[in-house]
Amino acid sequence: MIVVGAGAAGLYTALVAAREGAQVTLVARSPLAESASYWAQGGIAAALAEDDSVELHMEDTLTAGRAAARESAARVLCEDSPARVHDLESLGVRFDADRRGALALGLEGGHSRRRVVHAGGSATGRRITRDLSALAAQHERVQVLEGTSASSLWVHDGRCIGVLAQDEQAGARPLVARGTVLATGGAAALWRRTSNPRGATGVGMTLAHAAGANLADIEFMQFHPTALVHDDDRFDGFLVTEAVRGEGGTLITDGGERFVDELAPRDEVALAVQAELRAGRTVFLDMRAIDIGRFPNIVSALREAGIDPAREPVPVAPAAHYTMGGVATSLEGRSSLPGLYAVGECSCTGLHGANRLASNSLAECFVFGHRAALAALDEPEIARAAPPPEPGPSPVPPPATRDALWRCAGLRRTRQGLEQLLGDPFPLARLIARSALAREESRGAHQRSDHPVTNSGCDRMHLIVDTAGGASWELWR
Ligand SMILES: Cc1cc2nc3c(=O)[nH]c(=O)nc-3n(C[C@H](O)[C@H](O)[C@H](O)COP(=O)(O)OP(=O)(O)OC[C@H]3O[C@@H](n4cnc5c(N)ncnc54)[C@H](O)[C@@H]3O)c2cc1C
Repeated sequence: MIVVGAGAAGLYTALVAAREGAQVTLVARSPLAESASYWAQGGIAAALAEDDSVELHMEDTLTAGRAAARESAARVLCEDSPARVHDLESLGVRFDADRRGALALGLEGGHSRRRVVHAGGSATGRRITRDLSALAAQHERVQVLEGTSASSLWVHDGRCIGVLAQDEQAGARPLVARGTVLATGGAAALWRRTSNPRGATGVGMTLAHAAGANLADIEFMQFHPTALVHDDDRFDGFLVTEAVRGEGGTLITDGGERFVDELAPRDEVALAVQAELRAGRTVFLDMRAIDIGRFPNIVSALREAGIDPAREPVPVAPAAHYTMGGVATSLEGRSSLPGLYAVGECSCTGLHGANRLASNSLAECFVFGHRAALAALDEPEIARAAPPPEPGPSPVPPPATRDALWRCAGLRRTRQGLEQLLGDPFPLARLIARSALAREESRGAHQRSDHPVTNSGCDRMHLIVDTAGGASWELWR
């Protein structure tokens, strides 16, 4: 099996497949700190508390998803997430415990119960990726190709049979496998202001689409309401997790007024912040009254940026954060191209609908990574390999594309702006524009000034972008 990408989804998928006896090649482009997983500050959502249940977790997921989430995917996630947390524990990940030794559960926006598991407070992603990558590096059946990128998918007779990998030192390297799993992360760095590492440019979507797989829901980009505003690019966009608001942090204007329920779902909070900014006010996250010791890496990053959150409110604004859409997959991670799977943020099972519930995405990496690893084991042997493919187009967008997406496909969109984006040189930007134009309504993370109302006729309908670039509707239950 080939797994492309070594964030939470790729590492865990590789380890599960290897545990089941598969030989796995893990194609890992960049150092750990360049995955979104490394930066995850909140945690993993799992219904583990006594007063919680699969049903309540599902209800919150579907509510956040604005009647667009796929119910079967939400059920799979909510049922299986507690087992994945326990599996991670058995692999050696140490989650934070309360005084009685039980898992400490945090509260986050959109969750009706305490259900977010952390490791090292706000260092959850760092801990998990560090632990899983150490296990992958040691595993006898996992071969890690560091500094190597998949530059195109290898397709023969309508089936994905592997990838063309580019090694920084050794050059092109064709790799063949029964099952190829994309775990390349999201696309939020296509937008100018982002909380994501710069490599999150939708690489998996570009590779899969070029190879003949469908994409789904790519018009839904979640904007996080509280990313640091700073003159220095190194700090601008740094995310201050929802958990800070869960613990009592408040959003205030420069006049000191609160203007939104801080625990409302992300899309509502982000739009409220945007409205204040548009009205010429500055918005701050006030952490002065909370126990900031619970957020050590946020506090140290803010102090490095010259802001002391114990003494002064932190200036914030929305930033592109999470890609709900991606490579369209089944609940086992199968794409529409046989032999090709997608897991984690590059995939779209329909789970998140129009708005992801906080901390459901790490849970998704483990729940669907597990399912895809098991399913891909059953792919048939590759009988004979065709000549390897040519490298695909560069996954790096020109700076003008990032500006154009921010301007034309930001928190509020118009037909005119999206039509402009149809002329962008970067292919994925054009596909996003096509999808956003086809969704003539406002819902969750897709708000159109020219179609301000939610159309209930589109409930549970997902927009599929096929290989010809056309957008069509499918009902996913
Ligand atoms: C600041 C921040 C905080 C977050 N906090 C939380 C949280 O608390 N809880 C939560 O649930 N979610 C959180 N999220 C979202 C969550 O972290 C991501 O959705 C999740 O980690 C995605 O994991 P992934 O493995 O799919 O992708 P990533 O972790 O992004 O990993 C993708 C990897 O693929 C590699 N790659 C890309 N293209 C190629 C290629 N062609 N060849 C080889 N390798 C390639 C990349 O270099 C990268 O290492 C947060 C995100 C951010 C940015």
